[in-house]
Amino acid sequence: MKPPKPHVPTDINRRRLLRQGAALGIGILAAPAILSAGRSNWHGRDPFTLGVAAGAPAPDGFTLWTRLAPDPLSADPHTPGGMSGGNTGLRYEIAADPQLRRIVRRGDCLSESQFSHSVHLDVRGLAPGRSYWYRFISAGSASRIGRAMTLPAPGQTPQRLRLGFVSCANYEQGYFSAYRHLADEDPDLVIFLGDYLYEYIDRKSATVRRHSDGVEADSLPTYRNRYAQYRMDADLQRLHAEVPALMTWDDHEVENDYADKWSPRFIDPRQFLRRRAAAYQAYYEHMPVRALSRPRGASMRLYDEFRFGDLAQILLLDGRQYRSKPACYAPPNRGGAHAQTNVECPERLDPSRSLLGARQEQWVFERLQRSSSGWNVLAQDVMMAQWQRVLADGERAYWSDDWNGYPANRERLLRFIQAQRVANPVVIGGDIHSYWCNDLKADFNDPSSATVATEFVGTSVSAHPPPRETFARHLAENPHVRYFESQMRGYATLEMDAGNLHARFRAVSDAKDPLASVSTLKSFVVENGRAGAVET
Ligand code: FE
Ligand code: CA
Repeated sequence: MKPPKPHVPTDINRRRLLRQGAALGIGILAAPAILSAGRSNWHGRDPFTLGVAAGAPAPDGFTLWTRLAPDPLSADPHTPGGMSGGNTGLRYEIAADPQLRRIVRRGDCLSESQFSHSVHLDVRGLAPGRSYWYRFISAGSASRIGRAMTLPAPGQTPQRLRLGFVSCANYEQGYFSAYRHLADEDPDLVIFLGDYLYEYIDRKSATVRRHSDGVEADSLPTYRNRYAQYRMDADLQRLHAEVPALMTWDDHEVENDYADKWSPRFIDPRQFLRRRAAAYQAYYEHMPVRALSRPRGASMRLYDEFRFGDLAQILLLDGRQYRSKPACYAPPNRGGAHAQTNVECPERLDPSRSLLGARQEQWVFERLQRSSSGWNVLAQDVMMAQWQRVLADGERAYWSDDWNGYPANRERLLRFIQAQRVANPVVIGGDIHSYWCNDLKADFNDPSSATVATEFVGTSVSAHPPPRETFARHLAENPHVRYFESQMRGYATLEMDAGNLHARFRAVSDAKDPLASVSTLKSFVVENGRAGAVET
């Protein structure tokens, strides 16, 4: 890695100011002149009930999001969010400071009726490597103020990068204290690694609150209302406003354990693709993703790259849309994930199988090959490390829904990383509702083989965990696992500088307590040039 370049000024003090201002309720006092300019036609209702969000940072801009929803959980599918009629104009302001005193851009934008009156504003022409603050204004109503960021310019290297990553937030099974505490940490950005919401209704376990519609989301109106309900959560809404986000998904944004067009429950893939199209559209409608991601039917491009000068590159991957058919797929009973031995299902080992799909796989190889970044982060949905259970008869069983269902793809990727000497590869994931720190090996069946990359898997924000013993009793059969814990809910943070990467597993005291506290469960360091994390 190259030596650190002169420090790019961070705006951490301004960000603190914004949070203090928000805590005192003074944020909204900024620039009141605009508010009095137009008479409200919202009849006392707030059109910004779902908040604001920023994402998709580029060196000269970002995407800003909001959705007009004066009646966010409208039960009438013809008036999503209580909105009727065509595209609606609104105004936006972007400023260099949290109080919006130094406006650098203001203008008009559109909420698109075709996308439930959401706004995806791709802003360009701004300065690199800094924060901006923004809000939307519509007919006398102003949104809360949010923070966005631009990436450093090529050749401009930040001294450090601080990010949080989160996954698996089940609204019914717990509160989102993890989001609140992550916002308190004021990271540069947050990466959502999937299971942002759960489509099903939990009828089996102890819940703390209910999806208000009481139905499984399976259509555009029901997916929309699920997103709206999540976004009305104060902790999630605050995290999106205060921290720019990189977004990818896992399965529950559509349906449990799906892979491309193959669903555990739909025998006809065309039927499932109709559902996937609705789910992808609702995802787009609620996320700060750029125009590149506009859905086309059941397709939506999410994977993307984000460079922080020579310090770090984040490859944000899509682990669901392009998967090969699940090995030994046989819906409806054996359609989704299941444990398989090589005797039961030799197909799992087929070298043509891919979790990323051929095109995305090639894209990853190209990005890794030409990377000049000191840290190369692969941000995706599911655990990559091998996980095997030795059964009573000596056979080994593998779970088919994560990378263990696609071992040939995993081997291609890790061999490529090793052969190309990719600098400091770090894989982050979620899905498994437990914390893991793993060595990613050149050959998982040979513990003495090289550790090629480092993996951190974050626990769920609130979704219930698997029983600890399910995994704990097989740890000895997987010596590349350095740490495992399933009993705590929370999030993880990464802090990178030229010399080290620090990872922290942050656990909330009780996801069923809306006022839960947070503490560090474990922390690790990865040294520049040496794959594999060391507990600190
Ligand atoms: Fe999950
Ligand atoms: Ca999942």
